[in-house]
Amino acid sequence: MATEKMLTFVSVPRSMPEKRGAEDRKQDFDEIYREFADAKAAEQASRCSQCGVPYCQAHCPLSNNIPDWLRLTAQGRLQEAYEISQQTNTFPEICGRICPQDRLCEGNCVIEQSGHGTVTIGSVEKYITDTAWEKGWVKPIVPQGDRAESVGIIGAGPAGLAAADVLRRAGVQVTVYDRYDRAGGLLTYGIPGFKLEKHIVMRRIEQLEAAGVQFVMNCNIGEDVSFDALRGKHDAVLIATGVYKTRDLGGDNADAAGLVRALDYLTASNRKNFGDDVAEYDNGTLNAAGKRVVVIGGGDTAMDCVRTAIRQGAISVKCLYRRDKANMPGSQRETKNAEEEGVEFVWLAAPAGFTAADGVVTGVNVQRMRLGAPDASGRRSPELIEGADYIEEADLVVKALGFEPEDLPKLWGVDGLEVTRWGTVRAQFGTGQTNLDGVFAAGDIVRGASLVVWGIRDGRDSATAILDYLGQSATVAAE
Ligand code: FAD
Ligand code: SF4
Ligand code: SF4
Repeated sequence: MATEKMLTFVSVPRSMPEKRGAEDRKQDFDEIYREFADAKAAEQASRCSQCGVPYCQAHCPLSNNIPDWLRLTAQGRLQEAYEISQQTNTFPEICGRICPQDRLCEGNCVIEQSGHGTVTIGSVEKYITDTAWEKGWVKPIVPQGDRAESVGIIGAGPAGLAAADVLRRAGVQVTVYDRYDRAGGLLTYGIPGFKLEKHIVMRRIEQLEAAGVQFVMNCNIGEDVSFDALRGKHDAVLIATGVYKTRDLGGDNADAAGLVRALDYLTASNRKNFGDDVAEYDNGTLNAAGKRVVVIGGGDTAMDCVRTAIRQGAISVKCLYRRDKANMPGSQRETKNAEEEGVEFVWLAAPAGFTAADGVVTGVNVQRMRLGAPDASGRRSPELIEGADYIEEADLVVKALGFEPEDLPKLWGVDGLEVTRWGTVRAQFGTGQTNLDGVFAAGDIVRGASLVVWGIRDGRDSATAILDYLGQSATVAAE
């Protein structure tokens, strides 16, 4: 292995691509990190020590061949780096932007462990594929012959799209059904543009369309087309519907106007940024402009809501979370970005109802908490401090408490589809095969709310299993 130019981590400090200043980035929904300059990317890639046992790769859900594409980047052999990177990842430029690298590849880099600061793996991955798009190295998908078999995919999120890519490359006829008007799932309507600009997602969808993947949008399976009809129409079906049931809050005035669900709020904002007419945004229901905003929750969804509210021109934005900063589930990097942009975090604070006037929310009744003994998961459980309640004034309260699966067997009238006690679809590990013949499942609907990179992994694995199911001998479609 050629390691010249590598191992520079002792002399070259870790450096991320330039980040736009907080005042500048608050003015728009564009991404906040600029691209690495070529020399900087090569320099940062050269910090890798080319581990014989690369822990970064072991902790990447896609087992990306990270050391090899870092070495090629350091050597200026970018096209080869791209070829290797895209072998294991359907959307490397998306993962490079939004994977929580601190918990995955970068968090396990040995250089990080040795105190020198991790190799900036995600930023290099993004740089490689952005460059590949720019230089025309990302080639159209060319199916290997055309097979007669067809697969119906329910859900155009990362899991469904990754599966569509693998299946179409193998020549299978692929139709993707989605209840939304645009494909991309949470990549399009959940995650805000400041983390992932939408043209990055749309060009991937165009690439699939150009390869012959059919998209049937505004089609809610279970309502517009029955699940059984879909099974009858295709040789295999993949369920990749994600999880959308919002965890809710009770207490006084829990139904007051001005209390909104995170995904409704983020979707309205993303739609507005696409240039759509969004009545609930225009009439102020899902718009933070001029309001005191309180977001409840400590995960990535909450971080996206607070930062969206800042960009919409809120007077103040506070985030209430019942544990402390060290015990929050959201990415530390995103929390820091939010703090820089002016979000105030109120740690150890839990909502216990709301105040309202004339049916409109005026505040959150906040209970002060402290951390007690660790629970079964090892995290310290929040305990109530008696008598320390107070009212946090608010004009808009966004509930960002996580998502659960919808009851698919009931919604779709398929009692036979086995689900777990959490409501996720029961599917075999590594293949996504459900208990129904020819029905597979992938992504959040199997794992519960998870990550884009795991959706891609599942989509790819399920597509491979579907190809096995369809049989190795391709039936060539009639001309
Ligand atoms: P989804 O992306 O949810 O896509 C499912 C699709 O199925 C949707 O388009 C939906 O319309 C469609 N669908 C559902 N039911 C039906 C039906 N009956 N008929 C037709 N279509 C249907 N992960 C990260 O890795 N990094 C992040 O920074 C990050 N940020 C996030 C921010 C927010 C606000 C949220 C909510 C999630 C975030 N995640 C993040 C998680 C990530 O988005 C999901 O894990 C991932 O999108 C799951 O992919 P999926 O394909 O399983 O489902
Ligand atoms: Fe890291 Fe995600 Fe890329 Fe894997 S896909 S190398 S976890 S950024
Ligand atoms: Fe390079 Fe870090 Fe991966 Fe080792 S763990 S191969 S140093 S990126």
